[in-house]
Amino acid sequence: TRPVVAIIGRPNVGKSTLVNRIIGRREAVVEDVPGVTRDRVAYDGEWSGRRFTLVDTGGWEIDAQGIHLRVAEQAEVAIDLADAVLFVVDATVGATDADEAVVKLLRKSGKPVILIANKVDDQRSEADAAMLWSLGLGQPWPVSALHGRGTGDALDALLDVL
Ligand code: GDP
Ligand code: MG
Repeated sequence: TRPVVAIIGRPNVGKSTLVNRIIGRREAVVEDVPGVTRDRVAYDGEWSGRRFTLVDTGGWEIDAQGIHLRVAEQAEVAIDLADAVLFVVDATVGATDADEAVVKLLRKSGKPVILIANKVDDQRSEADAAMLWSLGLGQPWPVSALHGRGTGDALDALLDVL
């Protein structure tokens, strides 16, 4: 059976845009407004002749009190079922407390993680991506899911850990 790759991250970081970029279709629901609750959705993905199942963890309800908890819960389920994780961070925002909470779960899981520094739309923004070395998850891969910049290198890195 195909390996399962979970895409996790805060709302609005570009998870669904990345899914669309990888599967080459406009299927994953892209939201301009964060906070719309979606179920996890699985797609067939392929890169360099390797096939895998991509799980878009969608969004989760934003709740001023419970946001960190909800982020962590959603991420934990996705991590459990995955063989590898694409952890998406918005490089233009940087790592938030919610991102740090997910990092703890990722470390605990021992699952391979590819850190996607998304919204790096041009070379000038690559310094934003480099800031994410601080998460301690290894190399941040600068990506623009919107324009396709850097996605090939990140997917090559994914295949290396699958
Ligand atoms: P999700 O909630 O993590 O699934 O995020 P979405 O994929 O729905 O994207 C949220 C918003 O970020 C949308 O307006 C996207 O067009 C935008 N977005 C996603 N990827 C990029 C990117 O690489 N660069 C820029 N500038 N915007 C992006
Ligand atoms: Mg989404």
